[in-house]
Amino acid sequence: MSCLLPGMELDRATIGLVAEAERIARQLSVEHVVVASGVPAELLQHATRQADRVVVLPTKEPGDYQIEPCLAALHTVGAELKPRLVLLGQDTYSQEIAPRLAHRLQGCSIGDAQRIEIRDEKIHVTRGVYGGKAIAVVRANVEPAVVWTRSRAFAAEPERSAACQVEHHEGGTDDSSGSEIIERSREAASGVRLEDAQVIVSGGRGLGGPEPFAELGELAKSMKAEVAASRAACDAGWVSPSLQIGQTGKKVAPELYLAIAISGASQHLMGIADAKVVAAINTDADAPIFRHCQFGLVEDFRKVIGPLKEQIEESNG
Ligand SMILES: Cc1cc2nc3c(=O)[nH]c(=O)nc-3n(C[C@H](O)[C@H](O)[C@H](O)COP(=O)(O)OP(=O)(O)OC[C@H]3O[C@@H](n4cnc5c(N)ncnc54)[C@H](O)[C@@H]3O)c2cc1C
Repeated sequence: MSCLLPGMELDRATIGLVAEAERIARQLSVEHVVVASGVPAELLQHATRQADRVVVLPTKEPGDYQIEPCLAALHTVGAELKPRLVLLGQDTYSQEIAPRLAHRLQGCSIGDAQRIEIRDEKIHVTRGVYGGKAIAVVRANVEPAVVWTRSRAFAAEPERSAACQVEHHEGGTDDSSGSEIIERSREAASGVRLEDAQVIVSGGRGLGGPEPFAELGELAKSMKAEVAASRAACDAGWVSPSLQIGQTGKKVAPELYLAIAISGASQHLMGIADAKVVAAINTDADAPIFRHCQFGLVEDFRKVIGPLKEQIEESNG
């Protein structure tokens, strides 16, 4: 069973998630059921080409979305279907739902999955530990294994053509909410999602304030890149928390990650473990980031950003 929750889109990460659930279902010789709540029509349509069944849960307006009713509905569907594996994404809802759903279904919860295998009929999940410094393979001794997956961990596979049944479910039996939304604010979204970005320019505490982030934005524009940040820069209020990369932020997999004035704490590195190339600019030659990058420049960012932007613009024509 794979779960598509509000906020998920028809992007590489979600396509990979559904494809992985389909692959595992074939290996276990069980049905692949996609349970969807409040997702775009094109994603639902994609799911019908990848699953035996799609179960659509009732949804409220996206702004009214709350964990409890969704959890209750997933619990009801899960209790009916008795899945061996429940796959969730990397978004905040999925991460919050995974352990709670595992508890209600009396299964186990495993986070940050990078690979899922069936060995001796048991579900084994490969995940990073110690801030991504080591890899652990975890065996699910009780089922269902409720697993949230690392963004873009799985490759998309060819769609299958078998007929798929779409059912509308009435929802959960207990949607009493222990919490209530008391305020809503909408953040203007622009550009590509960080999880899908090919190039990321990221700034840290060493930038010294919010102003240099405007300069970083200009550099990013010239590189057709997205701007991100370390937790220190987000916590200082210089940029939105939605830009945070790392263990408690977003996990990204760009072709190039340019870390400017970021020391390279293990929690930050965890978010960029899947970056193809990491480049860093830092005044401290001993900064840990230099042990984790392919290209490093020991220099004050103020001397680099302007000339770098000019050169890129020149070569762009
Ligand atoms: C449970 C937990 C979860 C965490 N999750 C995250 C997370 O998800 N993401 C995250 O980022 N952090 C996370 N952290 C925090 C993490 O441990 C670090 O504190 C944080 O990453 C440091 O951010 P930074 O590199 O921007 O700042 P610093 O470590 O202060 O580094 C600033 C760097 O800027 C350099 N510098 C200073 N001036 C200049 C200049 N003029 N030009 C160039 N370089 C300069 C310095 O040499 C230094 O290396 C977490 C911590 C905990 C305990």
